[in-house]
Amino acid sequence: VEDVILNRDPEGTDKLLAVAENYKGQASSAAAKGQDLAWRELPVDKRLEHALVNGLDEFVIDDTEEARVATDRPLDVIEGPLMAGMNVVGDLFGAGKMFLPQVVKSARVMKKAVGHLVPYIEAQKEGKASNNGKIVLATVKGDVHDIGKNIVGVVLQCNNFEVIDLGVMVSCEKILDAAKREGASIVGLSGLITPSLDEMVNVASEMQRLGFDLPLLIGGATTSPAHTAVKIEPCYDGPVIYVKDASRSVGVAQALVEADTRAILVDKTRQDNARRREQHAGKKRLAPKLSLQQARSRKQAIDWAHYEPPQPRFIGNRVIKEIDLGTLRDYIDWMPFFNAWEFHGKFPQILTDEVVGEAASSLYADATAMLERIIDEKWLEARAVVGFYPANSFQHDDILVYSDESRQTVSQHLVHLRQQRGKEASQPQFCLADYVAPVESGLKDYIGAFAVTAGIGIDAHVERFEKAHDDYSAIMLKALADRLAEALAEYLHARVRREFWGYAADEALSNTDLIREKYRGIRPAPGYPACPDHTEKGKLWQLLDVEASIDLRLTESFAMYPTAAVSGFYFAHPDAKYFSVGKIDRDQVRSYAERQGISVALAEKWLAPNLGYDPVAADAA
Ligand code: SAH
Repeated sequence: VEDVILNRDPEGTDKLLAVAENYKGQASSAAAKGQDLAWRELPVDKRLEHALVNGLDEFVIDDTEEARVATDRPLDVIEGPLMAGMNVVGDLFGAGKMFLPQVVKSARVMKKAVGHLVPYIEAQKEGKASNNGKIVLATVKGDVHDIGKNIVGVVLQCNNFEVIDLGVMVSCEKILDAAKREGASIVGLSGLITPSLDEMVNVASEMQRLGFDLPLLIGGATTSPAHTAVKIEPCYDGPVIYVKDASRSVGVAQALVEADTRAILVDKTRQDNARRREQHAGKKRLAPKLSLQQARSRKQAIDWAHYEPPQPRFIGNRVIKEIDLGTLRDYIDWMPFFNAWEFHGKFPQILTDEVVGEAASSLYADATAMLERIIDEKWLEARAVVGFYPANSFQHDDILVYSDESRQTVSQHLVHLRQQRGKEASQPQFCLADYVAPVESGLKDYIGAFAVTAGIGIDAHVERFEKAHDDYSAIMLKALADRLAEALAEYLHARVRREFWGYAADEALSNTDLIREKYRGIRPAPGYPACPDHTEKGKLWQLLDVEASIDLRLTESFAMYPTAAVSGFYFAHPDAKYFSVGKIDRDQVRSYAERQGISVALAEKWLAPNLGYDPVAADAA
């Protein structure tokens, strides 16, 4: 091409035309897709390597069969060319020349090949192929999120670990039984919501009590090196290692199964963890500085005297089913999808990024193709329930939700948290209750609530993919369902502003402006920074009758399932914005516990990530 454009070669045009011939033909043919089939001429082991590195599963069964008949033991195919191919994948991934979605695609090729060989191996009763070691993986009790865990599982399998994946909502007992029974060499825990942090501490304590000494790997969205060092490691004498992402899991697991590297890694981790504990102890910056009373005196000043609360078009709940998925497509925020596959940056710029652009574009092409089928073939059903209720804020930080417009009966008492960090005196100490008119204002204000899911019907399809050894598609589908759920939350919120609450009837924002939240009002979700207590979801479920109306459920840790779901409250005030409560002090936790009608100890359990003090030390004092 360069020769033609730069006029460097008199025969350039003819040569280019000759090459172009290779790409002619039917849209469905491999050549038209830009695939060069020259690799089909290679010897079979090289063909398998090529298929693995490029994630091509079209010919893998044929090639595997050819390799199988050429040897006495079918196991030789796994231990020979397949393993060699996966080693190339592992090396390229390690060198940053392959990216996560490509590796997951390679794994699909590998699994298909192995799937073809298994019946022959069983017939010969050869036993299993040797491997690097067994890893028991689980999403802990109360949590249902597993995209990250599944990616880790796939990547480890690619690196010849045997992965015993126990799934989601797995009790501590089940995890440790499996570790013992299977003779595992590593246990890996995953979780996404904050209550899972506590459950991980529990698992570590149980490992200690039962005399385990296996390495414990910790990963997932809310986990952190600090939590691992401060809360988990002190409970367990075995190695406790925080693993930041799927890419890193391989290096860690590999280091752990060899004696010399293991000693180095374990030593280094212990030092890192100790250093983090010291840092944590000395951390004053984020500590709460104001008493609850002081913080309240610095609440955001809202001029209620000159405010007229908009009135929703209906009071009570409305269920919306069979929402058109095609409509939701336009509301998708794609960047979090790429994040799930460990691409970081901006969308759509990521598609043309110098380093990851090609891999990101290929992932995006696969994603849009699957999205098309999800929509056309109705793989998923999206449902929503939305409600509006008379409400007023009460005694600073609470919100009373009334059962009707007479405002005589309180149907729910919502309890909120206020920032206590030391800011400049001119800066307000935020609390969500500030955005609803207080009882004493005499204003008739309202609050909204919603719960949405795009995950109805997902299980059958995930199962279908998993049965076909196709983790790539299973993970892709889950990630897309998550996107559709967030898109539904965005779409519904827009309808709320324009129609149901109607305070922004003329709003017309682009997808980008919606993602940037350039609209009036917010939809804070319990468990997120402005309202970090997940248990408030229980009240949301009662208000909206969520389970009966759209079949969306809560686990004991208040995780939603199907996982492709969003729920929260609507605030209409123009000043309402998202913020982070951050660290709070014990005076507020005491008050909070009283207002919730629970013990301080229980409040401290649910608010653990927000405590600006150590409850044990505070008790001792
Ligand atoms: N556009 C993103 C939004 C992710 S945040 C996406 O598509 O993934 C997920 C949900 O959390 C939002 O829909 C909103 O309901 C809520 N949220 C966001 N920031 C919050 C905060 N600081 N406090 C409380 N809830 C928040």
